[in-house]
Amino acid sequence: MDCLFCKIVAGDIPADIVFENENVIAFRDIGPQAPQHVLIIPRTHISTINDFNASHSETLAAMMLAAGEVAKILEIDQSGYRLTMNCNEDGGQTVYHVHMHMLGGRQMSWPPG
Ligand code: 5GP
Ligand code: ZN
Repeated sequence: MDCLFCKIVAGDIPADIVFENENVIAFRDIGPQAPQHVLIIPRTHISTINDFNASHSETLAAMMLAAGEVAKILEIDQSGYRLTMNCNEDGGQTVYHVHMHMLGGRQMSWPPG
């Protein structure tokens, strides 16, 4: 399968990994949109949010639990941050391996663009 993030999981493409465990890895986005911008992804390939099913419960929990750990590592847990998951074209998804964006280190605006 020709998936960029699967290649990062496999170690075939380098990434600046900030956290990892048996279910997820978190690494810095190559085009940061905030002073802190990390992607939290499952090790297993899932294309979009629409492809999650009940068998992914552990993976989904792992992504959210990892977010809390990554926020502490980035030292933005108290100042705050935004978690975003883009789905398909209108959502702005460009890499079709599900990922959660963690953005922090500056004031976020609302509504998002
Ligand atoms: P999406 O637009 O799918 O929600 O987010 C994909 C993200 O992956 C973008 O923010 C983009 O900057 C990031 N990205 C694309 N290619 C690479 C890469 O090779 N390495 C890293 N670390 N991030 C990437
Ligand atoms: Zn993948």
